[in-house]
Amino acid sequence: MTVLDIHVLGSPVLRQPTVPVAGDTSKLQPLIDDMFATMYAAKGIGLAAPQVGRRERLVVIDIERNPIVLINPELISSEGSERGEEGCLSMPEIYGDVERKSTVAVKALDRAGQPFEISATDLLARCLQHEMDHLHGTMFIDHLSFLKRRAALSKWEKEREKYPNALRKLSAEEIASHHRTDGEL
Ligand code: ZN
Repeated sequence: MTVLDIHVLGSPVLRQPTVPVAGDTSKLQPLIDDMFATMYAAKGIGLAAPQVGRRERLVVIDIERNPIVLINPELISSEGSERGEEGCLSMPEIYGDVERKSTVAVKALDRAGQPFEISATDLLARCLQHEMDHLHGTMFIDHLSFLKRRAALSKWEKEREKYPNALRKLSAEEIASHHRTDGEL
């Protein structure tokens, strides 16, 4: 398993739509493992393939030790709405309140390529919507009001200087923390 570099806002791949995965998902297994390793090292709860520079329509999520792989996820229903704070591994230090559907149902393929459906509320519902947005080139700041988005981008102008070539390289310490806390992967 490899902890990958995370692409941050400014990297073109984050703004490109992904390509649905066709057929055999066995080739994706190393990428899925690397995405989990990267997400844990970065202390995230969700990661989409474009965030590691890839075009596959693929998301990994883990909230409270419940790892979920979603290949080609599609929203099948949603209801209600609620505001809540979000951040993003591709925009460190930037946060904003985003309105999301409060309940969603999503269909996808699991890591073995088998179809499944998941219904979610609360943080998992928010995380699913945030990560599925990434698969279509959308970032959470796109949902902010004009003024809040402008403020977030202005803060990001300073933050992004920490990430040459729009790549966030995790430190040896962050990488080691993954091995300490998530040895089962
Ligand atoms: Zn994100």
